[in-house]
Amino acid sequence: MTLPKNHPRYKSLMAREKLVNASDMVAKQGLIAHGRGEAFDYLLGEQTCLPALSAIKAAASALIEAKNPVISVNGNVVALAAREVVRLAEVSGAKVEVNLFHRTPERVAGLIKMMKKGGIDALGENADDSIPGLSSERAKCCSDGIGGADVVLVPLEDGDRCQALVDMGKKVITIDLNPLSRTAQTAHITIVDELTRCLPLLSDFVEEKKGIDSFDNKECLRDVLNYMAERISS
Ligand code: ATP
Repeated sequence: MTLPKNHPRYKSLMAREKLVNASDMVAKQGLIAHGRGEAFDYLLGEQTCLPALSAIKAAASALIEAKNPVISVNGNVVALAAREVVRLAEVSGAKVEVNLFHRTPERVAGLIKMMKKGGIDALGENADDSIPGLSSERAKCCSDGIGGADVVLVPLEDGDRCQALVDMGKKVITIDLNPLSRTAQTAHITIVDELTRCLPLLSDFVEEKKGIDSFDNKECLRDVLNYMAERISS
Protein backbone atom coordinates (compact mmCIF):
# COMPACT_ATOMS: atom_id res chain seq x y z
CA MET A 1 0.00 0.00 0.00
CA THR A 2 1.31 3.49 -0.83
CA LEU A 3 0.49 6.00 1.83
CA PRO A 4 0.65 9.72 1.17
CA LYS A 5 3.18 11.23 3.59
CA ASN A 6 0.79 14.03 4.42
CA HIS A 7 -1.85 11.64 5.72
CA PRO A 8 -2.62 12.77 9.30
CA ARG A 9 -2.14 9.22 10.60
CA TYR A 10 0.91 8.48 8.42
CA LYS A 11 3.22 7.33 11.22
CA SER A 12 0.59 5.18 12.84
CA LEU A 13 -0.47 3.58 9.55
CA MET A 14 3.15 2.91 8.60
CA ALA A 15 3.76 1.19 11.94
CA ARG A 16 0.72 -1.03 11.32
CA GLU A 17 1.99 -1.76 7.82
CA LYS A 18 5.39 -2.83 9.19
CA LEU A 19 3.75 -5.21 11.66
CA VAL A 20 1.44 -6.69 9.04
CA ASN A 21 4.33 -7.10 6.56
CA ALA A 22 6.26 -9.01 9.21
CA SER A 23 3.22 -11.13 10.04
CA ASP A 24 5.12 -14.42 9.92
CA MET A 25 7.51 -13.05 12.56
CA VAL A 26 5.03 -11.12 14.70
CA ALA A 27 2.61 -13.16 16.78
CA LYS A 28 -1.06 -12.31 16.19
CA GLN A 29 -1.22 -11.45 19.89
CA GLY A 30 1.44 -8.84 19.15
CA LEU A 31 -1.02 -7.00 16.92
CA ILE A 32 -3.46 -6.79 19.81
CA ALA A 33 -0.71 -5.49 22.09
CA HIS A 34 0.12 -2.84 19.48
CA GLY A 35 -3.50 -1.67 19.39
CA ARG A 36 -3.54 -1.29 23.15
CA GLY A 37 -0.34 0.73 22.93
CA GLU A 38 -1.85 3.03 20.26
CA ALA A 39 -4.83 3.78 22.51
CA PHE A 40 -2.55 4.89 25.34
CA ASP A 41 -0.45 6.94 22.93
CA TYR A 42 -3.56 9.00 22.10
CA LEU A 43 -3.82 9.83 25.79
CA LEU A 44 -0.21 11.05 25.71
CA GLY A 45 -0.88 13.21 22.65
CA GLU A 46 1.57 11.00 20.74
CA GLN A 47 4.54 12.84 22.21
CA THR A 48 7.20 12.19 24.84
CA CYS A 49 5.95 13.64 28.12
CA LEU A 50 8.28 15.10 30.76
CA PRO A 51 8.00 12.14 33.18
CA ALA A 52 8.94 9.81 30.31
CA LEU A 53 11.95 11.98 29.60
CA SER A 54 13.12 11.51 33.21
CA ALA A 55 12.67 7.75 32.85
CA ILE A 56 14.68 7.81 29.62
CA LYS A 57 17.52 9.62 31.41
CA ALA A 58 17.38 7.14 34.31
CA ALA A 59 17.48 4.28 31.80
CA ALA A 60 20.49 5.90 30.10
CA SER A 61 22.29 6.04 33.42
CA ALA A 62 21.52 2.38 34.15
CA LEU A 63 22.81 1.33 30.73
CA ILE A 64 25.95 3.47 31.07
CA GLU A 65 26.75 1.94 34.48
CA ALA A 66 25.86 -1.62 33.48
CA LYS A 67 28.60 -4.24 33.20
CA ASN A 68 26.58 -6.63 31.08
CA PRO A 69 23.57 -4.90 29.55
CA VAL A 70 21.18 -6.82 27.29
CA ILE A 71 18.34 -5.59 25.09
CA SER A 72 15.63 -8.22 24.84
CA VAL A 73 13.64 -8.02 21.60
CA ASN A 74 10.43 -9.68 20.43
CA GLY A 75 8.64 -9.70 17.06
CA ASN A 76 6.97 -6.30 17.52
CA VAL A 77 10.23 -4.66 18.57
CA VAL A 78 12.20 -6.04 15.61
CA ALA A 79 9.44 -5.24 13.09
CA LEU A 80 9.06 -1.66 14.34
CA ALA A 81 12.48 -0.65 15.58
CA ALA A 82 15.34 -2.91 14.41
CA ARG A 83 17.38 0.12 13.31
CA GLU A 84 16.83 2.00 16.57
CA VAL A 85 17.76 -1.10 18.61
CA VAL A 86 20.98 -1.53 16.62
CA ARG A 87 22.00 2.06 17.35
CA LEU A 88 21.25 1.69 21.07
CA ALA A 89 23.24 -1.55 21.19
CA GLU A 90 26.16 0.18 19.49
CA VAL A 91 26.27 3.21 21.78
CA SER A 92 25.63 1.26 24.99
CA GLY A 93 27.66 -1.87 24.24
CA ALA A 94 24.56 -3.95 25.03
CA LYS A 95 24.00 -7.37 23.54
CA VAL A 96 20.69 -8.06 21.81
CA GLU A 97 18.74 -11.25 22.51
CA VAL A 98 15.61 -12.43 20.73
CA ASN A 99 13.32 -13.55 23.52
CA LEU A 100 9.79 -14.56 22.71
CA PHE A 101 6.61 -15.21 24.63
CA HIS A 102 5.23 -17.23 21.70
CA ARG A 103 8.53 -18.93 20.92
CA THR A 104 9.15 -21.12 17.87
CA PRO A 105 12.58 -21.93 16.41
CA GLU A 106 11.44 -20.45 13.06
CA ARG A 107 10.46 -17.11 14.58
CA VAL A 108 13.67 -16.89 16.63
CA ALA A 109 15.78 -17.62 13.53
CA GLY A 110 13.76 -15.20 11.38
CA LEU A 111 14.07 -12.34 13.87
CA ILE A 112 17.81 -12.96 14.27
CA LYS A 113 18.04 -12.73 10.47
CA MET A 114 16.14 -9.42 10.51
CA MET A 115 18.53 -8.05 13.16
CA LYS A 116 21.48 -9.25 11.09
CA LYS A 117 20.20 -7.16 8.17
CA GLY A 118 20.33 -4.20 10.54
CA GLY A 119 23.98 -5.05 11.23
CA ILE A 120 23.91 -6.94 14.52
CA ASP A 121 24.35 -10.57 15.56
CA ALA A 122 21.53 -11.14 18.02
CA LEU A 123 21.54 -14.00 20.52
CA GLY A 124 18.58 -16.29 21.05
CA GLU A 125 19.12 -19.44 19.04
CA ASN A 126 21.22 -21.35 21.57
CA ALA A 127 18.96 -20.89 24.55
CA ASP A 128 20.95 -22.81 27.17
CA ASP A 129 19.59 -21.06 30.25
CA SER A 130 16.19 -20.43 31.76
CA ILE A 131 14.38 -17.76 33.74
CA PRO A 132 13.20 -19.33 37.02
CA GLY A 133 9.48 -19.21 37.76
CA LEU A 134 8.30 -19.36 34.14
CA SER A 135 6.98 -22.36 32.27
CA SER A 136 8.84 -24.17 29.45
CA GLU A 137 9.23 -22.17 26.22
CA ARG A 138 8.67 -18.77 27.86
CA ALA A 139 11.53 -19.41 30.27
CA LYS A 140 14.24 -20.03 27.66
CA CYS A 141 17.12 -17.58 27.43
CA CYS A 142 20.86 -17.49 26.72
CA SER A 143 23.45 -17.70 29.49
CA ASP A 144 25.69 -15.22 27.65
CA GLY A 145 22.70 -12.92 27.13
CA ILE A 146 19.78 -12.36 29.50
CA GLY A 147 20.96 -15.15 31.84
CA GLY A 148 24.21 -13.33 32.64
CA ALA A 149 22.96 -9.74 32.33
CA ASP A 150 22.93 -7.24 35.19
CA VAL A 151 20.72 -4.73 33.37
CA VAL A 152 17.99 -5.82 30.93
CA LEU A 153 15.97 -3.55 28.68
CA VAL A 154 12.74 -5.40 27.84
CA PRO A 155 10.45 -3.25 25.71
CA LEU A 156 6.82 -4.38 25.28
CA GLU A 157 7.17 -7.19 27.80
CA ASP A 158 4.49 -9.08 29.67
CA GLY A 159 4.10 -8.78 33.43
CA ASP A 160 5.08 -12.33 34.41
CA ARG A 161 8.39 -12.27 32.63
CA CYS A 162 9.18 -8.79 33.88
CA GLN A 163 8.54 -9.96 37.46
CA ALA A 164 10.66 -13.08 36.89
CA LEU A 165 13.61 -10.93 35.71
CA VAL A 166 13.25 -8.65 38.73
CA ASP A 167 13.17 -11.75 40.96
CA MET A 168 16.47 -12.87 39.36
CA GLY A 169 18.02 -9.69 40.74
CA LYS A 170 18.39 -7.92 37.43
CA LYS A 171 17.82 -4.22 36.97
CA VAL A 172 14.87 -4.11 34.60
CA ILE A 173 14.06 -1.25 32.25
CA THR A 174 10.90 -1.42 30.18
CA ILE A 175 9.18 0.64 27.50
CA ASP A 176 5.41 0.41 27.75
CA LEU A 177 2.75 2.91 26.71
CA ASN A 178 0.39 1.51 29.34
CA PRO A 179 1.39 2.93 32.74
CA LEU A 180 -1.09 0.57 34.42
CA SER A 181 0.26 -2.68 32.99
CA ARG A 182 1.85 -5.17 35.36
CA THR A 183 5.11 -4.72 33.48
CA ALA A 184 5.03 -0.95 33.96
CA GLN A 185 4.32 -1.41 37.66
CA THR A 186 6.96 -4.13 38.16
CA ALA A 187 10.02 -2.81 36.31
CA HIS A 188 12.61 -0.65 38.07
CA ILE A 189 12.49 1.96 35.31
CA THR A 190 9.40 2.30 33.09
CA ILE A 191 9.52 4.53 30.06
CA VAL A 192 5.90 5.30 29.20
CA ASP A 193 6.49 6.31 25.62
CA GLU A 194 6.23 4.90 22.13
CA LEU A 195 9.09 2.55 21.25
CA THR A 196 10.36 4.23 18.07
CA ARG A 197 9.99 7.69 19.62
CA CYS A 198 11.97 7.04 22.79
CA LEU A 199 14.76 4.74 21.56
CA PRO A 200 16.60 7.51 19.62
CA LEU A 201 16.39 9.77 22.69
CA LEU A 202 17.72 6.98 24.88
CA SER A 203 20.62 6.41 22.49
CA ASP A 204 21.40 10.14 22.45
CA PHE A 205 21.50 10.31 26.26
CA VAL A 206 23.71 7.21 26.46
CA GLU A 207 26.05 8.56 23.82
CA GLU A 208 26.27 11.98 25.48
CA LYS A 209 26.55 10.35 28.94
CA LYS A 210 23.59 12.42 30.14
CA GLY A 211 21.86 10.09 32.56
CA ILE A 212 20.25 10.81 35.92
CA ASP A 213 20.69 8.64 39.02
CA SER A 214 17.90 9.90 41.21
CA PHE A 215 14.66 8.35 39.98
CA ASP A 216 11.52 6.95 41.61
CA ASN A 217 9.49 4.73 39.26
CA LYS A 218 6.26 4.85 41.29
CA GLU A 219 6.40 8.64 41.37
CA CYS A 220 7.12 8.72 37.63
CA LEU A 221 4.12 6.50 36.85
CA ARG A 222 1.90 8.73 39.03
CA ASP A 223 3.15 11.76 37.11
CA VAL A 224 2.37 10.09 33.78
CA LEU A 225 -1.15 9.19 34.93
CA ASN A 226 -1.71 12.76 36.15
CA TYR A 227 -0.45 14.04 32.80
CA MET A 228 -2.95 11.82 30.96
CA ALA A 229 -5.77 12.80 33.33
CA GLU A 230 -5.05 16.51 32.85
CA ARG A 231 -5.08 16.11 29.08
CA ILE A 232 -8.44 14.32 29.27
CA SER A 233 -10.01 16.87 31.62
CA SER A 234 -8.81 19.85 29.60
P1 ATP B 1 1.04 -6.84 31.47
O1 ATP B 1 1.20 -8.33 31.43
O2 ATP B 1 2.34 -6.14 31.68
O3 ATP B 1 -0.04 -6.34 32.37
P2 ATP B 1 -0.02 -6.92 28.80
O4 ATP B 1 -0.75 -8.17 29.08
O5 ATP B 1 -0.74 -5.78 28.15
O6 ATP B 1 0.63 -6.28 30.06
P3 ATP B 1 1.37 -7.44 26.45
O7 ATP B 1 0.11 -7.89 25.84
O8 ATP B 1 2.60 -8.24 26.22
O9 ATP B 1 1.26 -7.27 27.99
O10 ATP B 1 1.54 -5.94 25.92
C1 ATP B 1 2.72 -5.26 25.84
C2 ATP B 1 2.54 -3.78 26.14
O11 ATP B 1 3.26 -3.04 25.16
C3 ATP B 1 1.12 -3.20 26.13
O12 ATP B 1 0.85 -2.74 27.42
C4 ATP B 1 1.14 -2.02 25.16
O13 ATP B 1 0.60 -0.88 25.75
C5 ATP B 1 2.63 -1.80 24.95
N1 ATP B 1 2.96 -1.39 23.58
C6 ATP B 1 2.52 -1.90 22.41
N2 ATP B 1 3.09 -1.29 21.37
C7 ATP B 1 3.94 -0.37 21.87
C8 ATP B 1 4.84 0.58 21.28
N3 ATP B 1 4.99 0.69 19.96
N4 ATP B 1 5.56 1.36 22.12
C9 ATP B 1 5.46 1.24 23.46
N5 ATP B 1 4.62 0.38 24.08
C10 ATP B 1 3.87 -0.42 23.29
